[in-house]
Amino acid sequence: MARTNTRRQHKQRADFRAECEANDAPCWICGLPIDYEAAWDDWANDDRFQEDHFWPVSTHPHLQEDPDNKRPSHAGCNRERGNGAPIVDLGIPSREWA
Ligand SMILES: [Zn+2]
Repeated sequence: MARTNTRRQHKQRADFRAECEANDAPCWICGLPIDYEAAWDDWANDDRFQEDHFWPVSTHPHLQEDPDNKRPSHAGCNRERGNGAPIVDLGIPSREWA
């Protein structure tokens, strides 16, 4: 089932970002601060905010709009994670640096 993108969901995403920004919430994947000044389409900036889902939308489409399933993340971390399972041990690097 494909990810949907309705006007309501757009609003929910904007609300979620505003909430995270107000709390200066860090990235839930790596724990570092998020660059809330960066535009959502600042593609070169991996530190920009991106909404992540604890349970990936690809496997849990019914949780896409569930506020409890949303997590603030870096665009870069979100991309690295892809649709992998939730990270339970943050002590292990998610990738090997060449
Ligand atoms: Zn991160």
